[in-house]
Amino acid sequence: MAQKANVLVVEDEQKIRTALADFLEFHDFAVVQAVDGLEAQRIVRDKKFDLILLDLMLPKISGEQLCAKWRQEGLQTPVIMLTAKGQEKEKIAGLELGADDYITKPFSLEELLARVKAVLRRTDPGRAVGKIFKFGDVDVDIAALTVRCDKKEIEISRREAQIIQFFAANPNRAISREELYEKVWGEEMSEFGTRTTDMHIAKLRSKIEKNTNEPQIIKTVRGTGYKYESG
Ligand code: CA
Repeated sequence: MAQKANVLVVEDEQKIRTALADFLEFHDFAVVQAVDGLEAQRIVRDKKFDLILLDLMLPKISGEQLCAKWRQEGLQTPVIMLTAKGQEKEKIAGLELGADDYITKPFSLEELLARVKAVLRRTDPGRAVGKIFKFGDVDVDIAALTVRCDKKEIEISRREAQIIQFFAANPNRAISREELYEKVWGEEMSEFGTRTTDMHIAKLRSKIEKNTNEPQIIKTVRGTGYKYESG
């Protein structure tokens, strides 16, 4: 049986928090609840989540501050911000601080479920290919965030794991930078996006390719982007 996705719900309003938790549990998620930012911080220190639903307006430490702090500390768990109507500015700030999506209150639970699933798909696009698999001549362990080649074990970032998963799920096909950026980062292509994808591919190649001048796993497709060649 597939493992349940772990979701942390951070919301001070008891009614909303309970409703969210019940609904997500009903839909087969494992849910932990936090009533404020400090509790959320404590919980996240001890347990790994697949997704965090984070209310913006929280006592003690706000959702915004918390999200910024987590990203500074390198936490890469996807975050969906829960905002109230009219908090447009905060939404934008939230996305800049590293939230993956936001949803405006009042929202329907079905709408929330669709967002949750979309973010999980986007941040783990290669779910179907399994947790440990071969990528070229490299063994990739997605859960541990490591790659192993020539008996060396190298750590990879969550983003690098997402890139590998995306290529693994789309072998033998030229992938444009645009598509890569949109599917893995979940954002529309921009000048910044082009640089971001190139930088990440270069770094990933340095970890998995024997010779980065002649990459054999993630090949360059001139004028287009990249291609993962699978035997
Ligand atoms: Ca609140």
